[in-house]
Amino acid sequence: MDPHPITGQLFESPVPPGTGWPGDPADAATDIARTPAQVRRLAKSADGIPQLQARLSVCRACPRLVTWRESVARDGRRASFADQPYWGRPGPSFGDHAARVLIVGLAPAANGTNRTGRMFTGDSSGDFLYAALWRTGFANQPTSVGAGDGLELTDMRIVASVRCAPPANQPTATEKANCQPWLERDLTLAEPHLEVIMTLGGIGWNATLDSLKALDWVVPQRKPKFAHGVEVAVESPGGRQVKVVGCYHVSPHNTFTKRLTPDMLDDLLRSLLGRPRVRLVPPDLRFQESYLEALDEFDGEHRDGDGELVLPADEGFEGVSFTRESLVDGAEFQRLVDHRIADALPETPRPQGWVPCTFRWIEDLERPGTHLGSIALRHELNDHLLEVGGHIGYSVRPGARGHGIAQEALRQMLEVARERGLEQVLVTCSETNPASARVIEANGGVYEDTRVDGEGDPTRRYWVSTTPSSPRTP
Ligand code: SF4
Repeated sequence: MDPHPITGQLFESPVPPGTGWPGDPADAATDIARTPAQVRRLAKSADGIPQLQARLSVCRACPRLVTWRESVARDGRRASFADQPYWGRPGPSFGDHAARVLIVGLAPAANGTNRTGRMFTGDSSGDFLYAALWRTGFANQPTSVGAGDGLELTDMRIVASVRCAPPANQPTATEKANCQPWLERDLTLAEPHLEVIMTLGGIGWNATLDSLKALDWVVPQRKPKFAHGVEVAVESPGGRQVKVVGCYHVSPHNTFTKRLTPDMLDDLLRSLLGRPRVRLVPPDLRFQESYLEALDEFDGEHRDGDGELVLPADEGFEGVSFTRESLVDGAEFQRLVDHRIADALPETPRPQGWVPCTFRWIEDLERPGTHLGSIALRHELNDHLLEVGGHIGYSVRPGARGHGIAQEALRQMLEVARERGLEQVLVTCSETNPASARVIEANGGVYEDTRVDGEGDPTRRYWVSTTPSSPRTP
């Protein structure tokens, strides 16, 4: 038994299912496929992504690969990892179960996924890939050290065409065929949200198109040749349009020779969803200059989702007062930042009847430190918020409007709401603001009614589910 490098818990190698490995989808009762026929049966009958990952993570259908992955785990460990437990099992998918982007890789590496139990984790390929996913807003941190390190992906899930580490990184044709039903089921379960499949390398490209064909998707008669950046449109039996995009594999061979550079990978990742590259971040002093520029741009216009600069004192609340001029001072700006962050805590003093609120600033990933706007999540609804205010308010600086930033910011804030345990949120907009209505509707908003606010303006009220896979109903 050796200690897990992050949790310190002792594990055997290979890791028995259900013994506490972070992210282990299986347990001792999970069905095990021991033959290709059993792979097909268990893959096809998996009722969802969790069950599919559990089943494939204990698969034993390829004798050569089972022997290899387990022998590496027991006594073939790389010297630098000799004191660590090795996963020694097939690699389950990693990422967002409601992702619009699916990455299809080749196969786990013997000392990477086969050690850490997570796709592309623990080797130089993964270091290259996850740094790019972080730069382009798909990952919450730039590194992937091991299961349990806090890494999360948004709008992306990573699978592989073969789930076990093969000797010399070369699975046989039979092994690829054996493993294809797991990929097919992953593709089917991803389909309701899927917009893009990005394949890493020619093997992933072929496996993906072969799987889609086997699943009766509409694919080109002649398989297009793999190339970096090549795109092909496919259609699911249910009529969903998806594009398959080729990307050079993030292997050391490609990255060390600069066949694939960070810029090339970033450009491709940014193009996948055609959405603005923005990220919601907590208020921070590093935005001071840009925040003040944005404040000038608003020129007194109401900035929903940014909080007030002046609030009078109330019972138990001493009030706040910031001015454009005072915020030029770094210490004063930091006080504003602290005030906004503290608003998320229930115990923070606030005006009577006001509710805790999580503030986020919208950062331009193309120009880090650039403040594009603000968005706020009120943790609960008081009478006013239920009537017209809603859970989420936002504003985009005038110079950045018209590029889909509000839509993307709202999409990301729905994830924050989901993490806070809110299954649906109320989002409102003025009847006279059709652009805002489109933003809400594009995020699945279901119109409930229009009510009149305190100034006599009609306000459209929408309920938005924070779980894309569930119906967005009031
Ligand atoms: S490669 Fe796939 S089919 Fe073969 S043992 Fe691993 S998970 Fe099972």
